[in-house]
Amino acid sequence: MKITDLKCTTLGSNPIVRITTDEGIDGLGAVESYKPYIKPHVEFYRDMIVGEDPTNVERVMLRIRRMGSFKPWGSAVSAIEMALWDIAGKAAGVPVYKLLGGKVRDKVRVYNGAIRFPMEGVEPQHFAENTAKMKESKEGFTLIKQAISFHSAMAREIPNYFYGEISHSGRHPNRGLLTERGMKHTVACIEAMKEVLGDEIGLALDCGPGMTVPDAVRLAKAVEPLNIAWLEDMITGDYTPYVLADLYRDVTTKTSTPIHTGEQIYLRQNFIELIEKQAVNIVGPDPCDVGGIAELKWIAEYADLHGILMAPHGTGDGLIGLAALVQVCAALPQNYIAFEYPVGRPEWWYDIVEGLPDPIVVNGFIDVWDRPGMGVTINVEKARKYLPAGDDFFD
Ligand SMILES: [Mg+2]
Repeated sequence: MKITDLKCTTLGSNPIVRITTDEGIDGLGAVESYKPYIKPHVEFYRDMIVGEDPTNVERVMLRIRRMGSFKPWGSAVSAIEMALWDIAGKAAGVPVYKLLGGKVRDKVRVYNGAIRFPMEGVEPQHFAENTAKMKESKEGFTLIKQAISFHSAMAREIPNYFYGEISHSGRHPNRGLLTERGMKHTVACIEAMKEVLGDEIGLALDCGPGMTVPDAVRLAKAVEPLNIAWLEDMITGDYTPYVLADLYRDVTTKTSTPIHTGEQIYLRQNFIELIEKQAVNIVGPDPCDVGGIAELKWIAEYADLHGILMAPHGTGDGLIGLAALVQVCAALPQNYIAFEYPVGRPEWWYDIVEGLPDPIVVNGFIDVWDRPGMGVTINVEKARKYLPAGDDFFD
C-alpha cells in the first residue's frame, strides 16, 4: 500500500487531515480546534510521505517527526500520525488499540473537558453555581476540572489580584506574584466548589500558566485538606514553548497535592526531565500536539515506570480526536486517570460522524468500540456542504 495524498481542511471549528492510499483505504486525523492556519503546515509534509507505506507507521513518522515543535507546531505531525494508525487499523481489520498493545480496559474514564457552562462571575458563589451545573450534566462525570487563577478571569476581574500589569491579549498572558487578597480569593473559590462536589466527584483545577513558584507552593499547601485531584499548569502550560521541570520539582516536593502539566509539550524527549526528575505527579500530553497516539502511549509507559500518572489533554480535539483518545487510552497502563473530553462544534459534527455511541458518555465513561481503525468515519454526502467553497478534501 502506498500513500497517494495528504489533505487538510477545517470543518466547523476543527481542522482535520486525510491521508489517501492506492488501495482505496483512507485515514483521518485531528488538529486541536481553532488552528485554521495549520493547512499549509500540513501540506508542508505531503511530499515527505507520499509514496510511503502508511501501515509502517513509525517508518513514515521518522521522515517528519523532527520537523514539528511545541504547540501549535506539532499538531500537523500529530494529526498525520493518527491518520496513519487509522489506515493501519483498517488495513489489518482491527481497532487501533490492538496495534498499540491491546485493551487494558473496556471503558475509558473522561472528565468534563469541553463540557462547560458560562461563568456568571468570579466570586466563590459563581464557581459553586457553575460546578453544580457540571455536577448535574447528563454525562455523569466522576471528575470535573475548573479554571482558576490565571487560567480564569480572576486576574482581570478581581482588583489587585496580583502584582503585575494586566494583559488582555493572547491566551493566558498574565504572570506574577499573587497578592494576599488574590491568593485568599482563589482558595475561597476552590473551597466553594468542593462544598458542591463533596467526596462524590473529584475536582481538578487548571491554574495558569503564570504562577510563581512561591505562590504555587502556597496554593498547593493551602488546598491539601481538600484532596484536590490535581493542580494543572501552574507555572508553564498552554502555548509555553518550554518545560521548566526544576521549577515544577520545587513545587511538587513541597506538597501532597498532585501537580500536573504537559499539554503543550511535543515529543517524548521533552518529557524526559519532568519524568526522570519526578517533577510532577501527573502528565497530560494532548495526542493532537505531542506527536500522536503512539507518542502519548510511550510517554504514559515511561511515566508509569517513575510513579507518575497520566491524564491526557483533549479539550479542542473534536470528534475525530475523541476517537483517537478512546483508542489510545484503552491501551494505556494503569497510571491512566481520565482524558479531557472534547465535543464536536458546531452541533452538526454529530450528524456527519458515524460510529460513535449514543450517548457517548455514560456515568463518566465511554465504552471502547471495536470497529477497525479509529472506528469512526465521516459521512461524505452529509459533510460536503460544510467544506469551504472549492475544497477537494473528500475527492
Ligand atoms: Mg489545561
